[in-house]
Amino acid sequence: MTDEQLIARIDEVKQSHPDNLMARHFDADYYLGLDAPLQARLRKIIASGVQNENSSMGAYAMAPDDYAQFAPLLDAMIRDFHGIEAGTPIAQPHDWDTSAVTSDLGAIDAKLKQVSMRVRVARNVASFPLPGAMSKEQRVVFEDVAAAAFAKLAENPDFGGQYLSITPGSPYEIDAAEYQRRVAAHQMFKDMSGDKYLNVAGISGDWPYGRGMYVSEAEDFLVWVGEEDHLRIMSMQTGGDLNALFARLHDGLQILGDLLPAFAMSDKYGAIASCPTNLGAGMRCSLHMKLPHLTKSGTDLTRVTTEAKSRGLAVRGAGGEHSDAGSDGLVDVSPSARLGVSEMQIMRRLYDGAAALWALETV
Ligand code: ADP
Ligand code: MG
Repeated sequence: MTDEQLIARIDEVKQSHPDNLMARHFDADYYLGLDAPLQARLRKIIASGVQNENSSMGAYAMAPDDYAQFAPLLDAMIRDFHGIEAGTPIAQPHDWDTSAVTSDLGAIDAKLKQVSMRVRVARNVASFPLPGAMSKEQRVVFEDVAAAAFAKLAENPDFGGQYLSITPGSPYEIDAAEYQRRVAAHQMFKDMSGDKYLNVAGISGDWPYGRGMYVSEAEDFLVWVGEEDHLRIMSMQTGGDLNALFARLHDGLQILGDLLPAFAMSDKYGAIASCPTNLGAGMRCSLHMKLPHLTKSGTDLTRVTTEAKSRGLAVRGAGGEHSDAGSDGLVDVSPSARLGVSEMQIMRRLYDGAAALWALETV
C-alpha cells in the first residue's frame, strides 16, 4: 500500500466506522512528517485497525517505547478511550488500598453473593518486545522465564499450584481436552489463531507456542502467559467480597513480580500493554451478573450496554470479549477506564455501577 492508499483507506474507515479510534484520530500530516523507519513502525501499530474497520481501538503497540514515540497519535486515542480531557495530563496513580471502599456485593442483595468476580492486570516484561513483535523463539524463551518464576511461586504456601502449557513438547504440556476444559471453566484463554484483530497485529503469531497458564491449587489465582500481553495476572472468586478479591491479586502480583524480570512501567502510562485500552492500572475487574430483565433473557444487550456505559462500565458476553450473553442473561460487566484511575477507584466504579444495574434489573 502506498502512503496515498493508506491515507485514503483510513479516511474511508473514518467515514464508515466513526468509532474506530485510530481512524478518528489519524492525522495524515503527522504520518507524512515521520521518517521512513518511523512510518514503517507506525504502519505495523495501526495495521489491525486499518484492515479491520470495525475495531474499537485499532492500534496495538509493538514495543514499550511506542507510546512515547507515537504520542501525537496514540495520546489522542488514549484520551478518547479512557476519558482524559485535553488539558489534564495523562498520568497513572496507583492505590491498592481498598479498605475504605464499600465492597460487599452481598450487602446489596444476598443473590449477588453468587456472582463470579474476576480481576486481572496486564503486565509486560521490559526486556522482551511486546507480543505483536515477538519471534517464535522469543515466545518460547519468555515462557521458560515465566515457568522458572512459577516453579518458585509453587513453593509458596498461599500461592502454590501448577503451570500448564500448550506449547507442543513442553514439559508442562496439557492435552487438548484439558485445555478445552480450562477454557470452558473461564480459566484459560481461547484459541487466538482465529482472531482477526490479533492476527493482523501479529499478537496471535506462532500459536500455540509460548502459551500457557499458572493456576493455584484453589484455582483462585491465575496467570496467563502469551495472550495479548506477556502476562495477565488475575484473581477469581465468588462470594461478593471485592476487597478480598483485590487483596488476593495484589499479594500475588507482588510475590510474582519479585520472581520475574522488571515489568515495563511508566509514570505517564502506567503498566505498558499491547492495546492502549489496557494501559494504566492494566486492570479489568468484572462481574458475571445474571441480568435477564435488562438483556431480554440475553437476546438484546442494547439497553444494558447504554445503562452500563453511562456509569463508566462496559458489557461483554458470558465468554469474554466478542461473545454472546447467556440465555439466562449472564453478562460480564467491568469499568472501561484503566488509565488515569487507581485500582481502588476502579473497584469503586464496579461496585457503584453493579449496584445501579442491579437496581434497574430488580425494579
Ligand atoms: P480479559 O480481556 O479481561 O482478560 P476476556 O474478555 O478475554 O478477558 O475474558 C477471558 C475469560 O474470562 C473468558 O472466559 C470470560 O468469560 C472470563 N471472565 C471474565 N470475567 C469473569 C468473571 N467475572 N467471572 C468468571 N469468568 C470471567
Ligand atoms: Mg481479552
